[in-house]
Amino acid sequence: MSSLLEVEGLNVWFDLEGERELHAVQGVGFALEPGERLGLVGESGCGKTTTVLGLLGLLPPSASVAGSVLLNGVDILAGGEESIRPHRWVDLAIVFQGAMNALNPVKTVGSQIVEVLELHERARGREARTRTSELLESVGIPADRAERFPHEFSGGMRQRAAIAMALACNPSVLIADEPTTALDVMVQAQILELLDSLCRDFGLALLLVTHDLPVVAELCDRAAVMYAGEIVEHGPVDALYHEPRHPYTRLLFAATPDLYGEGVPASIPGAPPRLDRPLVGCPFHTRCDRAFGRCTHERPLLRELEGSRSAACHLNDVVAEVV
Ligand code: SF4
Repeated sequence: MSSLLEVEGLNVWFDLEGERELHAVQGVGFALEPGERLGLVGESGCGKTTTVLGLLGLLPPSASVAGSVLLNGVDILAGGEESIRPHRWVDLAIVFQGAMNALNPVKTVGSQIVEVLELHERARGREARTRTSELLESVGIPADRAERFPHEFSGGMRQRAAIAMALACNPSVLIADEPTTALDVMVQAQILELLDSLCRDFGLALLLVTHDLPVVAELCDRAAVMYAGEIVEHGPVDALYHEPRHPYTRLLFAATPDLYGEGVPASIPGAPPRLDRPLVGCPFHTRCDRAFGRCTHERPLLRELEGSRSAACHLNDVVAEVV
């Protein structure tokens, strides 16, 4: 049986000036089942946002996208914009990075949600306004605030409104790109709680894009760790935390502050490689504390390991554990 969403071999290139191109997403693949929650994690610039914009067909014309995006077994990427448009917002909805600042400042919040409902022919007039009230209430905003403008909302409420807008057409997959960035800690916790309850109440599948590992640990069943445009490790969140099979995953967790721990978070030395030049060997080898000869000239492939896990590291060929 096909998955709800299955991304296979997704590649994105950006044309740079002259003859050069930047290979921003390299063969990314993952699947989502109804109600499942997958975290896409990694440092800034590793290709997380480009991956989700690519699978939704929302990248600028300078980008070329290849691969397949199967929604209930049907490839919505194959026919370009014509085949993606009917599914965008309706089946796959996104809360954009910085979405709380993306609301139109000269329109009331409610009218912007009504607009989405009417544009996608979900409801009109009174029915659309009633549905807008329900949507606002489902994200914890009193319905009478629908007539307020975005500047009358706090940052947390604007983020809630952006989530309500994404839910307008009852999507089966919600993509949330850094939904808690720029919010204070208390509001972050409330937004995570909201996403958690929406997934439970509406059976939504969640694709959470974030650099914040504690957020993934809190909310997700599985995580896919991205580095230099590709997935380098994928598996259940608990397994990745307790027994990482790629040194980058281990170092990423070690770099995360632990409120109750005694250790000092350790930064990962160096910087990711440039993606406008051919990569030789493992993309992580210049920063890896476990690199050995083979890593400098042979690129490791993502291969399946035990327990629904996979990792792209030569160490998995020679030792049982990377830790
Ligand atoms: Fe480190 Fe080598 Fe594994 Fe790459 S393949 S992560 S360099 S040990």
